[in-house]
Amino acid sequence: MWQDMNTMNKDSKLPNSGKTVLDKTLLTEVLISLISNDIYIPTYTNGLKDIAKYLGFNWSNEKASGLQSIIWRFEWEINPTTDLKNTLIAYNIEDSRALMLVQNWLVSLSENNDKTVLTNTLKRQNIFKWGVTVFALEHFNEINAKAYFDYQRQHIFLRTERKVYKAVSNKQQSVKQYNHIDKRINLFPDKCKYCGNKDITIVRSAKKAQIDLTFMKSGIKKQVIEYEGGAYRCKKCQKIVMVENMRRLPHYGHNLMLWSVNQKIQYRLSSDSIINLLKDSFKISASTTQITRFKKVIADKYLETYQEIIKKMCESKLIHIDETIARIEGIDGYVWAFANYDSVYYQFRETRETDFLKELLQEFKGVLVSDFYTGYDSMECKQQKCLVHLIRDLNEDFMKNQLNEEFKQIMSKFGNLLRNIITTVDKYGLKQFHLNKHKKEVEKFYTDIILQDFESELAVVYQKRFIKYREKLFLFLNYDGIPWNNNNAEHSIKPFAKWRKKITKSLNKQNIEGHLVLLSVLQTCKYQGVNFFEFLKSGEKSIYEYSKNDL
Ligand SMILES: [Zn+2]
Repeated sequence: MWQDMNTMNKDSKLPNSGKTVLDKTLLTEVLISLISNDIYIPTYTNGLKDIAKYLGFNWSNEKASGLQSIIWRFEWEINPTTDLKNTLIAYNIEDSRALMLVQNWLVSLSENNDKTVLTNTLKRQNIFKWGVTVFALEHFNEINAKAYFDYQRQHIFLRTERKVYKAVSNKQQSVKQYNHIDKRINLFPDKCKYCGNKDITIVRSAKKAQIDLTFMKSGIKKQVIEYEGGAYRCKKCQKIVMVENMRRLPHYGHNLMLWSVNQKIQYRLSSDSIINLLKDSFKISASTTQITRFKKVIADKYLETYQEIIKKMCESKLIHIDETIARIEGIDGYVWAFANYDSVYYQFRETRETDFLKELLQEFKGVLVSDFYTGYDSMECKQQKCLVHLIRDLNEDFMKNQLNEEFKQIMSKFGNLLRNIITTVDKYGLKQFHLNKHKKEVEKFYTDIILQDFESELAVVYQKRFIKYREKLFLFLNYDGIPWNNNNAEHSIKPFAKWRKKITKSLNKQNIEGHLVLLSVLQTCKYQGVNFFEFLKSGEKSIYEYSKNDL
């Protein structure tokens, strides 16, 4: 479940970052100013990172920087993994080491009076790259293809090696022979449906086996049920009655479909893996097309669950929103993710236009938290922009413009303001009563920024941006429980991104939409502490009702 940031802080210890970053920043500035005045170094910028790198120092993380460490810290708060914590600690240690290195080097320069560094001592960049070998000659491609494992086994060794022959021929065997019937169900009634007469004759009869799974307390078992149906004639009223159209009876049962969908959605198994699992565990054979169809059947069944999710979200006080490109082979588009404390909803759109949001979120009266994509600007609801996004942008521009004093001034003023607010959030949580006190500082920040007549283009760009988003940057100070970052939405994009990564075949729109229905159900279950598979098995349609009874 998604946790409120402040509850998380009480449970876990924060890796030290804020204070150290400040002190280091100060020391770095002193050293760097020495360098920019008197020493020429063949680096792109006079930043600590470039200089230390030039001196042979390597950060274990490529992205390391002062502001980046703040971003890592916030990410760690939302998602407290050991990895992130180690990154932060490593960053702090390495940064200090880098500083020492630069300091020692400066000292050595003055001692040795050797102010030049020969270019031939520079390290050469690695020129080799990984990739697929493409042969210039078509013949070579063909030869290369024939060296592949499967080709060799099926076409070459098959003829000479007995074991390979056995393995390949077993692989091709179907598993049909294990489908012995566990249960027979006769669908013909004892008496006529219309007059109740018991004297009926069967005029047409057909049998069909359905393969399914039975869920027991201690596990899952395969079950094959043979149904018998057709048509009968009543000897009294002479009516011919159809019992069940055996042709329409699905070959695979509902439980089997639920099981496959769970593997696919919750565990992100490929169709091939599911096919192999079915074969190995249950001696059931199924094709890729069938696995895809299972997903569609179940997605259609949970459409109402999906629609309830967005309806409930619109009734809540908060929605996080984010979008990502869905460049899946065969189709281009965007996937929107909506998230709050207990629900996640995804929607596929063919364009990045935001018009659909007005209708979808028509009833929503809460606060929408988003990044700075201009598509959201015209939304009428109250909005909070993600401040981590803003820090990321500031940080990125800082890396490229480390000598821009005006920009630095804006950045440090905003940094101080935000740091004070975050301290309050850490201490009291997202409580309007305490956050309100920072409004005076916000006023002061804006007075300082607006009154400045900046010369640098970059400073002017940020000045405009701060003014444009004034209300949307600090709206959270007026509310209880409205986060100042969009981590929740970014977090909910992840499950989609992981799936997108694994797609190798082309998909149609319907397939993606079906997947998003089920992914919304899965993520909402997770946010509510509900087991997705248990929910599916229960036959319930409302996760909100189910989670109430589940407690
Ligand atoms: Zn009858």
